[in-house]
Amino acid sequence: MNLPQLALEAGVVGCGGAGFPAQVKYAKPAELFLVNGAECEPLLRTDQYIMARFAERLCAAALAVKEHLGAKRLIFVLKERYRRQIEAIKGAAAKFEGEIELCLLDSVYPAGDEQVLLYEAAGRVVPPGGIPIQAGALVSNAGTLLSVADALEGKPVTHKYLTVTGEVARPGVFRVPLGMSYGECIALAGGAKIGDYCTLTGGPVMGRLNDPESPEDQVVTKTTSGIILLPGDHYLRRRNEIPLIHMRNRARAACIQCAICSASCPRSLLGSPLRPHLVMRAFASAQSMEELTRIEAARNAMLCCECGICEIYACPMELQPCRINVLVKGEIRRRGIKFQPPPGGGPAIDRPYRRIPSERMASRAGVLPYYHIPADEFHDVPACGRVAIPLQMHAGLPSLPCVKAGQRVRQGELIADIPAGALGAKIHASIDGLVREAGNRIVIEAEGKG
Ligand code: SF4
Ligand code: SF4
Repeated sequence: MNLPQLALEAGVVGCGGAGFPAQVKYAKPAELFLVNGAECEPLLRTDQYIMARFAERLCAAALAVKEHLGAKRLIFVLKERYRRQIEAIKGAAAKFEGEIELCLLDSVYPAGDEQVLLYEAAGRVVPPGGIPIQAGALVSNAGTLLSVADALEGKPVTHKYLTVTGEVARPGVFRVPLGMSYGECIALAGGAKIGDYCTLTGGPVMGRLNDPESPEDQVVTKTTSGIILLPGDHYLRRRNEIPLIHMRNRARAACIQCAICSASCPRSLLGSPLRPHLVMRAFASAQSMEELTRIEAARNAMLCCECGICEIYACPMELQPCRINVLVKGEIRRRGIKFQPPPGGGPAIDRPYRRIPSERMASRAGVLPYYHIPADEFHDVPACGRVAIPLQMHAGLPSLPCVKAGQRVRQGELIADIPAGALGAKIHASIDGLVREAGNRIVIEAEGKG
C-alpha cells in the first residue's frame, strides 16, 4: 500500500483544523513539505510535547511523506523558544544526512497559521482564498504527522494527545481515547479549581466555546487539540455572548474607521484583499444581511482565518471584526453565493514590524496566568470505561457505522466506514468493549462497566 492508502485505512485526518482526510491531502505532488511545529495558540502544548517525545518517529514519517510527494525540501518549522523540541528534532534529523531542514521562528502570533508559516519558512505566498499546495507546498502539523507515523506501522487513529489546562489542578498533556468525555478529561487533570467555569475546545483565541447544555458534543475527537477551563465570567465568554443587534449598534456608534484592525491583520499583511475595517463599515451601513452579502468588501470576509487579532488585540474600541467576519462567511455559504476572491498584492513592507508577540496576545486574551505551564507535564490515562465516538470528526460526509448494538469490538477495529465515493474518514474503536449504540454516534462500554 502507498502512503495515502495507509492513511485512508488508518483514518488519518489533519489534527489542526477541519480534519481534512489525509488520503486526499497527500494525493498531489508538492515541491516543499513543511512540518508545522509552531503551535501558536498561546496555551496549547500538545505538538510541543509530541515533538520532544517522538522526534525520531516524526522525522522518519516526514521523510516518507517527502518521498511520496516527490518534494525537494523538507522543513521542520518551530518557534525559537522551543529549545527542548529543537534539540530533539536536530538529534533525530542528524541520522538522515542533511535531508531535514530546520526553520526557527520568533515567538509571534499566529506563527502557526499555515499561510504565515509558509511565507516565513520559504518566502512563498498563497493566493487569496487558496491553500498552500497552490504555492507548491504541503503543510502538516506534528500531531497529524504522528498519526501518519502510526499509519505507516499499520496502527489506526484511536487516541488523541491533547492539552488540558486553565483552571484545573493538574494541567498537562494527556493521551486519551477518541470519544472520552470532556468531564473525564477534566477529572484526569485533577478537576476544576473553581465552581463556575466555562470550557473551550482548542486554543483560547481560535477555540470554540462549549455550550453546557450540549454535553454530548463535548467528547474528544480526532481534531481536539485542547480543553481549556476558564472562569465563567471570563472576557472570552462575555465577548462571545454579545447579541448581533448590539454588535451592529456598536459598529454604527463606535467604529471610528481607524483601520488598525486591517493594519494588524496577518492575511492583509501578506497581500490578501481582506480589510476588516471595510467589512465593519459595510456591516454598520447595510440594512439587511442580504444587502451586506452584496458588498464586495464584505464578501472578502471569506478570506479571514479567524485568528482573532483584529478584535482581541487591535481594535481600540473593543469591537468584534472577527466575529462579524464569521457571521458574513456563514451568510455567504447559507445563501450559496459563489465567492471569487479578488487578486492579492504582495506582502506589506511594514509586515515585520507588525507581528504580535505571543505573550502579549495571551495577555490581551486574558489567559496570561496559564501561559507559562510547560509542555513536559504528561499524564498517563487509566483505562476508560465508556466512549461516545461521533461519526463526523473530519471534513466531508459523516462515516457510516459498520457495527451493531450488542456487538463486541476490540480497540483498533473498524467501526464506521466512508460512504461510497464520498470524502470522509474511517473510524476505529478506541477501547475494547460492547457496542451500546450505533446510530449518530458509536457508544462503546468496557465490559463489566455497563
Ligand atoms: S480597529 Fe476597531 S474601530 Fe478601528 S476600524 Fe477596525 S473595527 Fe473599527
Ligand atoms: S480574524 Fe481579523 S485579523 Fe485575523 S485574519 Fe480575520 S480579519 Fe484578519
